[in-house]
Order: sequence, then structure tokens, then C-alpha cells
Amino acid sequence: MFGTNGVRGVVGEMMTPTLVLKIGAALGSMRKGTIAVGRDTRTSGEALAHALKAGLLMTGCSVVDMGILPTPALQYIIKADDRFAGGAMITASHNPPEYNGVKVIEADGTEMADDEIIKLENRFFADEFDAVAWDGVGRETAAPERIEEYIQAIVRHFPAGIGEGMTVVVDPGSGPAALTTPAILERMGCRVHTINARIDGTFPGRLPEPTPEGLQPLSEMVIATGAAFGVAHDGDADRAVFVDNKGRYIEENYEFGLIEDYVCRRNPGGLVVTPVATSRLIQDIAGKHGCTVDYTPVGSIYVARRMIELIGQGERVSFGGEGNGGLIYPDHQFCRDGGMTAAMMVAVLADHSGKDLSDLADALPVYHLIKEKYPAPDPGALVSVIEEAFSGETIERIDGIKIIRDDAWALVRESGTEPMIRIMIESGDPGIADGMYREIMRVIGQT
Ligand code: MG
Repeated sequence: MFGTNGVRGVVGEMMTPTLVLKIGAALGSMRKGTIAVGRDTRTSGEALAHALKAGLLMTGCSVVDMGILPTPALQYIIKADDRFAGGAMITASHNPPEYNGVKVIEADGTEMADDEIIKLENRFFADEFDAVAWDGVGRETAAPERIEEYIQAIVRHFPAGIGEGMTVVVDPGSGPAALTTPAILERMGCRVHTINARIDGTFPGRLPEPTPEGLQPLSEMVIATGAAFGVAHDGDADRAVFVDNKGRYIEENYEFGLIEDYVCRRNPGGLVVTPVATSRLIQDIAGKHGCTVDYTPVGSIYVARRMIELIGQGERVSFGGEGNGGLIYPDHQFCRDGGMTAAMMVAVLADHSGKDLSDLADALPVYHLIKEKYPAPDPGALVSVIEEAFSGETIERIDGIKIIRDDAWALVRESGTEPMIRIMIESGDPGIADGMYREIMRVIGQT
């Protein structure tokens, strides 16, 4: 039921108050104590939050309802306050408006790991809930004002007034970042314009996924206002994406690289943790600062858990994230944080005074990426056939197979949701990328 990003489904079909009530009861049976609950701006959020809280309260947990806030804000509040035994966020992140879902948060602010999620699912399917009697039912309080703790935590990360003289445009996409990112950037000294900044679960301006097409009005506003950049968030604001001062969408691996350069210069020689699907650009920039890249399976939770594990082993971890605008700052918290990423871009530009974001983006090495899906009745078998065909080469098996060459790499993985394989190939030379793609397709053609 749970995927790598929690439970998600269409409201009224798979996603119902009954399902969420049972998730609340299962979570409450596992994590006795006070549970923090939050939601994004979806129209179904209020109904599902009530169901979640009912499930928690009937197992004896107390609930603190934080109202509408970004997922990383809820995670930060839980991490920073020892009284919370855990939390849950009603969100479907970047999915369309008809979707909603639940993300379960541990007391340290991280998303619940796979082994604990399996225990929660087992309780869910077995109806194994520790319901309490009338005198043990939990109590609910509300604390929507605590969103302020998150805003302050980000602002105090940077020198006062670092954004002075900088104009920026924020597009929260009618989501919860409307309550945080404009305030964060204003308090850093920026002049802030907004678009789609009224919270609205019908998403009248654009869909929750920030695509280059959906961000056209943001680009136009950046140009019209002479802003240094525009920043947009997904539906729960754990991700941030950017348009530069010329209104051009910054591909997310380049965003990662620009911020990595800033973070690693201040913390050289550490590890940068990212999934195997991320651009080699991240390795190039890590190398500039004596940092090494540590690769994980695809999914932000694996990056966050690996960062924590490495630090536990005494390693120095400088930075982490995914090539989709989901970046993790180890001295802030171990989850993707879109508000922090927006603030970081201000610091990146302040650090390169006199240079525009377009100059910085254009100075990065260019990589060519091919991304394809290929239908396969038995995707696992097809991945094995490809692995066999390339067995004379360097192959990593962190997630599917990654064939690594000096001038290119290819990643072939089973899709988790459909009978197909996903193929990614990257090279600095488009001809080399195309050639490697044809090699893989020849192997597939022979099966
Ligand atoms: Mg998200």
C-alpha cells in the first residue's frame, strides 16, 4: 500500500476517510504519545485530517494539529520538539488535485523507514489496533502558529540582510509554501513578488507539479520585475525549482549543482549523498571541493537515511539530495526542504556578487540525458539480460543496474508500478549518449 513517498490515491476511490482512519489507528498503536498532524492545501485535506486524528485519538494518542504547512515545516517542528512521538502529513505532494495521501513522520523528523512501514501495513490489514477505553482517549489541540518556528530556523541560518537589494518572485502554486517562502525571503532582506500565492486546493493557477510549462507566468513575472530569480514549489513544498533572471527554467540537476558548489565550498572534503539516477555533474562539482559522492537507490528517504547512517559511522556528510529539486541540508534537517532551498539560492547569488543566475547556470558543464520507458512483461528478467550483455564493463547494482563508462553511464531499472523498465543514459556528448542507447536497444531487440 505504501510506496517510497507514503500512501497516495484518488480521493473517493482508493483514498477515503475510512482508509486514513485506519492508518491513524495503526500509527497510534505503534507510536504512543503526542502526534503532530499537518496537511497541504488540497480540498480533501480537512476531511482526511479529521479521519487521521480520530484514528490516533481512539488509540490514546494526543494530537497537535499544525493546520496547513509545508511537509518540511511539519518535519522540522517534530524534530525540534522532544514531546512528539511522531507525526503524519496529509499530502499528495506533486500529484494532481484529485489525489491525496499520508506521509508518516518519525520523532526525529524523518519519514518512516520501510521496515516500520511494513509493521504499520501489517496492523492496517489485520485490523490490529490498540483501541483504548473511554477514559484513555487522547486529546486534540491546535498549534498553527508553530509554522513560525520553521521560518525562523531557516532565516537564522544565514547572515542578516543577505538578500538586500535582491528582487525575487515566489510561486507556491497555491500550496502551503505561500505561508512560508515569501516570509523567509522577505526576512532575508529580499524584495518579494508572488504569483499563485493564495492557498487554494483547486490549484487555479497551475498544477502542484512545477513543470516548465506551468511556470511560464512565473518566468514572465521574473522578466517584468527584473528579479534575480523565480522559485516555485511542488504541492507540499519539499521541493523547489527555479527560473533564472532571463526567465529560463533551471534543470534540477543544475540547481543541485549550483547549491552543492556553495554548500561544499563551506564544508569541503565530505560526502555528497544522492541516488544513482542523478547527473554526473554532481560528481564533478563534489570533486572540485575534495568531496566524494555516495550513491543510493532512487528515493529521497534512502538519501536521508544514508546521510544519517554515514554520520553515525563518523563520516562527514556535506550535502545530499535528488536531481528533482529535493535537496537535504544536514545541518538543518534530514529531509528535502523547499523553503531552505529557496533561501540557499539567495545565498548562492550573494556569494557571487555581480554575477547573474543565468551566468552561473551557463558556466556549468553540459550533460545530455536520455530518459525512456520500455514495456516488458517480466521487467526483472529483461534487466538481467541487459546486465549479462554488458557484464564485461563496470556495473553498479545499487538500484537496478548502472553501466559506468568514462564518458557516459546508463541506468536500467524495473518500474515499481508498471510492467516496464526505465532507461536513463547520460553523457557530456549527445552522440555518445545516443550510441549507448542504441546498444541497449539492440540487446532488448534480441530478446
Ligand atoms: Mg513533495
